[in-house]
Amino acid sequence: MTMHDVIIVGGGPAGLSAARRLLVSGVRDVVVLERESEAGGIPRHCGHGGFGIGQYLSLPMSGPAYARRLVESATGADIRTQTTVTSIRPGGRVDIVHPERGTQALEGRCILLATGIRETPRSARLVTGGRPAGITTTGALQQMIYLKHLRPFARAVVIGSELVSFSALLTARHGGIKIAAMIEEDDRIAARKPGDWIARHLFGVPVLTRTKLTAIRGIERVEAVEIERDGRRETIPCDAVIFSGRFQPETALLKGSHIILNPHSNGPAIDQYFRTSDPQMFAAGNLLRPVETSGMCWAEGRIAAANIAAALAGTLPPPAPGVAVRISEPVKYVYPQIIVPSAGIPVPMPLMRARVIRAARGKLRLTVDGQELWSRSGRFLPERRLTIPTSGIPISGITDIAVDLIED
Ligand SMILES: Cc1cc2nc3c(=O)[nH]c(=O)nc-3n(C[C@H](O)[C@H](O)[C@H](O)COP(=O)(O)OP(=O)(O)OC[C@H]3O[C@@H](n4cnc5c(N)ncnc54)[C@H](O)[C@@H]3O)c2cc1C
Repeated sequence: MTMHDVIIVGGGPAGLSAARRLLVSGVRDVVVLERESEAGGIPRHCGHGGFGIGQYLSLPMSGPAYARRLVESATGADIRTQTTVTSIRPGGRVDIVHPERGTQALEGRCILLATGIRETPRSARLVTGGRPAGITTTGALQQMIYLKHLRPFARAVVIGSELVSFSALLTARHGGIKIAAMIEEDDRIAARKPGDWIARHLFGVPVLTRTKLTAIRGIERVEAVEIERDGRRETIPCDAVIFSGRFQPETALLKGSHIILNPHSNGPAIDQYFRTSDPQMFAAGNLLRPVETSGMCWAEGRIAAANIAAALAGTLPPPAPGVAVRISEPVKYVYPQIIVPSAGIPVPMPLMRARVIRAARGKLRLTVDGQELWSRSGRFLPERRLTIPTSGIPISGITDIAVDLIED
């Protein structure tokens, strides 16, 4: 067992920005555990641009350039790659495995969990048909194209229209793969408009909304997909299907552990200090909820690290029973999910973030003990980040906090 000040699980934007912030705060013994052969997280295999916007004094960078920059900025931390954390335990303990060094246990005065997200694969989407080769996710496609320089197929169909689905289009174009169609069940794309215009006119990809994938055909390789559109069945010939988006926080490590997960965000429940149900363990980045930009995860890593530095210095408000924030449909999730009333400690409360589960028009409200503290009226769409100011929440004597949406 080796002992450390802080152990960070996950070397993506959230984990690496936290490492940097801890080092700048004077915390010297920071270990980052990363299961891949290099740190950097998802951006490492996103060969397209669009990273680091507003973060560094430069133009947006490619994912790999951004990942390298993050790793450089964490110089001074002990970044251990090819090191998978297999379990976390009370007392700040983590068990790790390395292909050559085998298993080991580490103990941290504080732990930061920053394991990111994963896409929902075909198996979890209940699509009928066989199991031919050529079915993948955007993340796996990026690894094949940008890291291994393969051209695994020639003509694919993309399922989904979130922002990451456009990353699939960029990746496919880079790899010389034609996209036969982008398919979305809803009546509009999940990403912001003019994403559909861009897909059609800049990528030449038909965007089929109100369209459901009903089956994948093929014996050894994918040969076609069957779709249902306006009550009619159609077949699209292709040799691959890319399932994009429908992200889930990467909680494999937390399931079965002592950390409480939130059923709405599917990540660990945190208080306003990014502290989980185990006050030695903090969480940041996409593990908290699916899915935010790298810049947002980077910023969350820094805030969590500032709180960890305060915890190590004994200046963070001690853990105490908090007030759970209530939500109701169409609000999908909110975080932090717990507010710990903590009088007089000068740590600013972060904003609350929320999303809705479906498109809705009405008034989004924050109420405390039945009193409306904040509201915003308008149309709210899924896949859009909602920000709720928390500065007016009294920090003592409250018993109920709720975020709801009163529909018109
Ligand atoms: C295909 C795709 C395209 C994207 N394009 C953009 C874009 O253009 N611009 C943008 O701003 N954002 C983009 N994003 C989002 C952005 O990549 C993420 O928001 C960001 O990487 C999240 O950072 P993170 O640190 O929370 O998680 P990640 O980047 O996912 O990092 C988590 C790390 O934890 C490691 N890990 C997980 N479990 C363990 C374990 N048990 N032990 C050890 N290590 C572990 C993983 O290997 C990984 O390196 C994209 C995302 C995807 C999937």
